[in-house]
Amino acid sequence: MNLILFGPPAAGKGTQAKRLVETRGYIQLSTGDMLRAARASGSELGQRVSKIMDEGSLVSDEIVIELIDEQLQAHRDAPGFIFDGFPRTVSQAEALDDILEKRGRQVDLVIRLVVDEDALIARVTRRFEEEGRKDDNPATFVNRLEKYNADTAPLIPLYAERGKLKEVDGMADIDTVSASIDAALRAAGGH
Ligand code: AMP
Repeated sequence: MNLILFGPPAAGKGTQAKRLVETRGYIQLSTGDMLRAARASGSELGQRVSKIMDEGSLVSDEIVIELIDEQLQAHRDAPGFIFDGFPRTVSQAEALDDILEKRGRQVDLVIRLVVDEDALIARVTRRFEEEGRKDDNPATFVNRLEKYNADTAPLIPLYAERGKLKEVDGMADIDTVSASIDAALRAAGGH
């Protein structure tokens, strides 16, 4: 099962992905987490992406595609993958198709967490106060939302046309969102 958790930043993708890791043993592939880890390690890659991330802009497609490819290689026998925060552009989506195809896999399901932007801004302001992530500061977050609407939202009709898209109310409480995701996974044949 190859599942994309789709939605704007702070829609709850990471929270839901972690639940699926616990309940189903899927592997979570969060490019945001990978980039934050690279930055924390002080690696050359981390230094290269640090400023871009703090601004709330997107790092290059090549960087994130390579990170995903490496992780798919490292976890060849996983029962499923959850793509969280990837793909974020049309060319990342095309690259994902290619790298899955070369492993005899495909995108099975795209779950879009549908959320209200004003409520998201409130959620992120709270997260900024609690966790202090620089890119959660309200001005930067608005930039991240704009990037999502300009670069990432165009993927919605692409997956809808393929019959892969399932929309879930991301404003519901965490357990309700999890139950809706579970139902969508079962309907798509996931275990
Ligand atoms: P996230 O935690 O997914 O919101 O990611 C945090 C930051 O990492 C983003 O604002 C981008 O700067 C960068 N990033 C994460 N995933 C991607 C991606 N798929 N493409 C480009 N940049 C990304």
